[in-house]
Amino acid sequence: MQAAEQSVKTACWSCGSALTAGQPFCEVCGKVQAPGSCVTYFDVFGLPCKLVLDVSALERAFYKLSRKLHPDLYAQATMQEQQWSLEQTSLLNDAYRTLKDPVRRTEYLLRLEGVEIERDKSSGDEKKDSRVPADLLEEVFELNMQLEEMRMSQKMGEDDRQLRSDLEKAKAQFEGQLADFDAQLQSLWGEWDAALDADGSLAKEDAKNRMVALLDRRRYVRNLVRDVNEALEI
Ligand SMILES: [Zn+2]
Repeated sequence: MQAAEQSVKTACWSCGSALTAGQPFCEVCGKVQAPGSCVTYFDVFGLPCKLVLDVSALERAFYKLSRKLHPDLYAQATMQEQQWSLEQTSLLNDAYRTLKDPVRRTEYLLRLEGVEIERDKSSGDEKKDSRVPADLLEEVFELNMQLEEMRMSQKMGEDDRQLRSDLEKAKAQFEGQLADFDAQLQSLWGEWDAALDADGSLAKEDAKNRMVALLDRRRYVRNLVRDVNEALEI
């Protein structure tokens, strides 16, 4: 969604007052509105498209809106309003689930910015990411050898203690990297938000590209941790 679309106003069906796109209710008469077609999750909460977010304020806003959309309050309303309140509830739930999670929030914003983000693969590794980050090549090669060895020894009904302890060490190291990514991501949020305030398109582009690269890498390392966990389970 472009900034211009976000500020588009339409009129309340009931009192005719101007509406802020994405707001579930008319600010004047309080009537529930039809969900807009190009509403962002940020719009639902009346938030700018920024990444540093007060999660407890988001939670309070979520519960407040949820209460106002409660079906009991619409028992006497028209069918249309009942329908809209259900649609708004579903939009609100999706928006809350996405924005409260740091990684999902970042991915969502990047998608709004036109970036193709790989979705989580539910299962199977047929489409496993094959792009190994260059500086991880050696570690990944070593890890894959160990994983293969581990699977072989398990097939033979053996439990190689040394191998197990090596894999646990590797796992701890990758988990440490995941924690580092989260810290780096938070600092990129700050850069993105500042660039947005300053309307600096180069700085925005730079922060965006670095977030994409970081999330790719994070996804890759998280899959490695998952592989190690699978190999360690007997
Ligand atoms: Zn109204």
